[in-house]
Order: sequence, then structure tokens, then C-alpha cells
Amino acid sequence: MPATQLLIGEEWVDAATGATGQTVDPATGEILADFAEASPADVDAAVSAARSGFESDEWRSLTPDARGKILWRIADLIEENGAELAALETSDQGQPIGVSTNVSIPLAAQTFRYYAGWATKLEGKVSPVSIPGQFTYQQRRPLGVVGLITPWNFPFDIAAWKLAPALATGNAAILKPAEQTPLSTVRLVELAREAGVPAGVVNLLTGGPEVGKALVAHDGVDKISFTGSTAVGQDIVRAAAASLKRVGLELGGKAPSIVAQDADIDAAVMGNLQGALFNTGQACGAFTRFFVHRSRVDEFVEKIAAAADALKIGPGSDPETVVGPLASAEHLARVHGFVTSGKTEGAQLVTGGERVGGELENGFFYRPTVFTEVTDEMTIAREEIFGPVLSIMPYEDLDEAIARANNTDFGLAAVVWTQDLKTAHSLPERIEAGTVFVNQLPLIDPGAPWGGFGKSGWGREMGAYSLDEYTETQSVFINLG
Ligand code: NAD
Repeated sequence: MPATQLLIGEEWVDAATGATGQTVDPATGEILADFAEASPADVDAAVSAARSGFESDEWRSLTPDARGKILWRIADLIEENGAELAALETSDQGQPIGVSTNVSIPLAAQTFRYYAGWATKLEGKVSPVSIPGQFTYQQRRPLGVVGLITPWNFPFDIAAWKLAPALATGNAAILKPAEQTPLSTVRLVELAREAGVPAGVVNLLTGGPEVGKALVAHDGVDKISFTGSTAVGQDIVRAAAASLKRVGLELGGKAPSIVAQDADIDAAVMGNLQGALFNTGQACGAFTRFFVHRSRVDEFVEKIAAAADALKIGPGSDPETVVGPLASAEHLARVHGFVTSGKTEGAQLVTGGERVGGELENGFFYRPTVFTEVTDEMTIAREEIFGPVLSIMPYEDLDEAIARANNTDFGLAAVVWTQDLKTAHSLPERIEAGTVFVNQLPLIDPGAPWGGFGKSGWGREMGAYSLDEYTETQSVFINLG
């Protein structure tokens, strides 16, 4: 595969320095492609190209309907190229082909279609001020140039969740995918241009953290929308303070799962296993801390460990695969480090806890791992592992389970398993999380907001909430006196 390039304005170009990076297939450890490693000069060029694109007549004069049509066309192109995009996402990220084909790619298309509809519905308000002789109204204005920095776990979707509302509201964007998984974002940008997004309105910078840092520090960028780790989110906030650019943050998670005494255990086992191991646990909303009523915990542990052992581990390209590789060698080492700390700190390993060998030994495969006798203070109960590791903890009553579920810095997602209507409706408002699921997997839909409390982030993506993230509100006072 030839090295991928940067998109700056109208031109696909190599990095100004000629530098390249490499992305690896996590199922084999082999190099998949080279990508252009942007330099600070490329960041400057992309920001000025985006400014020109934002101010261009070609973009400004588009009617909301025409802007919506372009977004709709991007959705169509994603679907027309769905098989190729799914294969690309699977080879670069490692996710099972069933996930990329049936979740990642269709969800991105759905997101563009959802925000295509919003382009014609960005209404303002009339304000009943008490000053005589005034007609006062508000309108939404695009922010200008937005930097969209994404992680490696769902590269295509997360780019779509940012780009679609950014364009629907009339901004110009610079995408910066993760260095581990740039390839599907390169294709997304190509498809956006093919759909008719004018030159300069979408730009692409590939490369590592230095590229992200330069974007965050740049005075010509009006907003950074970032999805990634909490530590980097904190760095971004510090770096953005100088310019006071807007910052949106979708950060880490450590979702609790509360299994009530009355839960349907078989449904809870299957739902929790899928919720824990979706994309090999590399999902910010993955279920990780399992609070199970003491009377049901033995049955739960036995069943979930047996089900975890039975899952097919393999390359994402194999349609039978349920558990694919972890995304990189570094991440594999990190996950194993957490498992080692669990054992050292006294948790009981029920199954897993090791890298997969044999014919999969060159890929970054890790066995689904189940721990019991985990306490709230252990590292595996506190830190985001972002891998296939389940920690099971018994509790005595629901008040205790809720208090322990909330005993975390994170607050992205949570799940409750119960057959009691009162428990189902009364627990969510006692749980500190941006999304609470009841009796199901972690789901994401463009129609519902997604985001976190606490150290899981600032702001919301998806739904009408995302429109606020990409617009300024402007008041206009007209003197009628
Ligand atoms: P990461 O924070 O290491 O990197 C994310 C992106 O930021 C990459 O593109 C990287 O190059 C860039 N970057 C790194 N340092 C930077 C800096 N100082 N300034 C600017 N950009 C910088 O995250 P990751 O390891 O790629 O992704 C995993 C993390 O993402 C997990 O913590 C996970 O929970 C989180 N995540 C959150 C959500 C959500 O919706 N809340 C969704 C997916 C992933």
C-alpha cells in the first residue's frame, strides 16, 4: 500500500519534512502502511487552509439545504464503500469484521445522515427583553476552525461523531487520527471531498502526539474536540488555557455493572460478557466492575468464566472471531501489567491472564480474563484497563452497590441488571454516569447524547447537544424605537 498523505486545502501532500510513520496490523504484527508524519509547518499550513475554507464563498454561500445534502452524500458514499471501509478498519484496528461491518461503518453513515437533517434546523430564539423598543433575537454561529483529535479504538466512528456536527453547523475541520489507526480516517476525508465538501473545509493531519499538541497550541484553532485518555485530556486543557479556545473532552471510563438480586442471571452473564469484551474491551463504555449480589455471585462467576473461555479468539478478518487482538504491542503490555498488579494485590484469577500463543503468537491477542475477590482499592478496580479484564465484587444491599459503583473518578457509563421496574427506574438517578443502561449492552446512537461526568470529560457528543459544542450563540438587539 503506498504511503498515505496529508490533505491541506485542495492538495494531498507528503509531510513538509518528508517524515513518515508506520501503522501495524495488530493481528499479525506486520507493517500495514506508511503514513505522512505531519510537522509543525504542516499544522500551520492546515490551519490557514482551514481558515480560508471556512471564510470561502463556496462554503459560506451554501444554503443549509445544500450543506445537508453534502452530509447525506457522505453517508451514501460510506455505505457504497462499506465493505472496503470495514476491511480497512479491521486490518488497522483489529476489530472483528462483524463489528466493523455491522456496527462501525453503518453507525458512521447513520451519524452523517442524522446531522444532515440538523443543517436545516439550527433555529434561534426571540428574547422578551424588558427594554422598550427592542427586537432581540439569538442566532447560532459556527465557531470557525475546529481540530478533531481521535483515539485508536473506534477510529472511523469517532471521526464521524465529530466531523458530521462540525460540518452541519458550518465549521471547517482539521482531523488528527491516532497514529496507531489512521487509515480509515484518510478514506473518510477522501469521501468527504468526493461528496462535495469544498477545499479547505476538511483537512487531514496524520502523525503522533506532537501533531495533536501543535494543533491544541495553535492560535488559529477555535476549538479542540478530543476523544482519548484522561491524562491527555488534562494536558489539552492546560495547553488550551493560553488561547482559551473551546475544548470538548470524551475521556476514559470504568463502567460499573450492578447485578441485582432479582436479575435474570443468564441474561446478565451474556450481556455483561458482551459489554465487557466488545472490541476486546477497548471501548470507553465497556463494563468493567461487576457488583453482583452476594447470593448470586458464585453462579455468576462460574457462568461468565465458562462463557468467556468458550469465545473464539482470532484475527478480526475471520468472520467467526469474537475476541480480536489488542490494538498495539504497547497496549498488550499495558493490559498484562494491570493483570499482574491484580494478582500481586490479591485478586483471585479465575480464567485468562495471559497472551495467546500458538499460531496467534505474532499478533497482540490476550485471553479474556476474569478476577474475583477484587476490592475497591485495587488498581484493577480503579484504573481504566481498556482490555478484556473483568473484576467481580460481591455486595450485600443496593445502597452499598451504588456507593461503591460511584466510588470512582470516572463517570461515563453504567449498567443495571434487574427484573424489578422500581429498581430499573430508581437507580439511574443515583448513579454518577453520563449514560445508564438497564438490562443491555452499551449502545450508542446519534440521536442520544454521549459523554461523561467527572474525569470522563466535558460536554456531549451526538444528539442536538452536539450542536451547542460547535456553535456560538449570538444575540442581536434591533432598535425599533
Ligand atoms: P490517547 O489520549 O493516548 O490519544 C488520543 C489522541 O490524542 C491520539 O490521536 C494521540 O496522537 C493524541 N495525543 C496524544 N497526546 C496528545 C497531546 N498531548 N495533545 C494533543 N493530542 C495528543 O488515547 P488512546 O490511547 O488513543 O485512546 C484510548 C483512550 O480513549 C481511553 O482512555 C478511552 O477511554 C478513551 N476513549 C473515550 C471515549 C469517550 O467517548 N469518552 C471513546 C473512545 C475512547
